[in-house]
Amino acid sequence: MSGATVVEGCAIATMDHARREFEAGHLVLEEGRIAAVGPGAAPRREDDVRRIDGRGLLATPALVNCHHHLYQSATRGMAQEATLFEWLVAHYPVWAQIDERTVAAAARAALAALARSGCGTASDHHYVFPRDAGDLLAVEIEAARQIGLRFHPCRGAMDLGQRDGGLPPDDIVEDRDAILTASAEAIDRHHDPEPGAMVRIALAPTSPFSVTRELMAETAELARSRGVRLHTHMAETREEDEFCLERYGVRPLEYLEEVGWLGDDVWLAHCVQLNDREVRRMGESATGVAHCPISNARLGAGIAPVRGLIAAGAPVGLGVDGAASNESGELTDELRGALLMARVSGGPAALTAREALELATRHGARCLGREDELGKLEVGALADVALWRLDDAGRAGIADPVAALVLGPPRPVHTLAVNGEPVVEEGELRTADPAMVATDLARESARLRERAG
Ligand SMILES: [Zn+2]
Repeated sequence: MSGATVVEGCAIATMDHARREFEAGHLVLEEGRIAAVGPGAAPRREDDVRRIDGRGLLATPALVNCHHHLYQSATRGMAQEATLFEWLVAHYPVWAQIDERTVAAAARAALAALARSGCGTASDHHYVFPRDAGDLLAVEIEAARQIGLRFHPCRGAMDLGQRDGGLPPDDIVEDRDAILTASAEAIDRHHDPEPGAMVRIALAPTSPFSVTRELMAETAELARSRGVRLHTHMAETREEDEFCLERYGVRPLEYLEEVGWLGDDVWLAHCVQLNDREVRRMGESATGVAHCPISNARLGAGIAPVRGLIAAGAPVGLGVDGAASNESGELTDELRGALLMARVSGGPAALTAREALELATRHGARCLGREDELGKLEVGALADVALWRLDDAGRAGIADPVAALVLGPPRPVHTLAVNGEPVVEEGELRTADPAMVATDLARESARLRERAG
């Protein structure tokens, strides 16, 4: 075998710069890259390749997830009717008890859910580092390696505890110098700046109400001196607006601008509570957005002005957010959720099926700084590909394949390849045993509840 994979007979939505689509086309994946894509049959070749019969399938770029908290898969189903602040206060004491075992089981489960929903690149925002909990960042990086996803872990942090006017309890915040040291170490140990990287680090103090102004500013300096990206939560709820006005005298976006946090090397989760001027500012500065419609709905936070953000020029990727505020954790839900929720307030043309897919692919890649090699099917791009079944009862008869994917019922992806390597085949995860993943998650969730009393 040459190691190449040839797919023929599938519909293809390339999401390339011309948004080319083929009713029946081919894809060739070789040495981790896309070697060919186009209409009709693949160029003939004599060597022994892996062949996939693409009839009845739609090929898209593997989806990109821009915001998550993998560890939260161990705390699903809690605080079901709470606002964001109430929900956080209910979870902090439980999260304070996580350790390597919790994170290993939760990360594997969360990454498996992403893989099942066609996601090839996942970012994670990990910000709870209890003393003596072990090397949690290394544990989740190992989980991503096992499941086989490209991974952008963000070294999160909290240094503004209750005694200083923040929201989190004092026992789960870290010291600022320790955070900066750990952030630099995370880059040294794990960040791969090379093309095709499987792991890239970003720095990510958690939110305006759990982090000091000094940490925000110093983190931006560190990230820029090391060439890594910046990520945080912003403008998720009205309570956050009030917190920022009271503590900093400005709204969240102005605060981020003051600490040097707008720019094309930054992407921000949520961006729900933005006024028109702020939407324009996001676009002018090319600051990215991780849009998390299902989590925003679960917490009753509102919905980000996606149409306006795209029109202003901001990249808007999709994120499942942590499973404590989105028990599903599957990215196909966000595709559909983004479209439906944009239409609730913006009418039926507010977001098209193709625009929703664009958020989950091209825009997501841009948020993570990977637009040159991810989020599109074109020659030379990374061989991260999702194949979706169109001919089962849930989607059969829908003539437009992209509408079938986005408007039809969510289904596990048929095939997911990352770097050309199969992660999901025939709808089954190939890199881990799903029954074992579920058993481990149930055991570790119960153990965490017990530890938290
Ligand atoms: Zn979040």
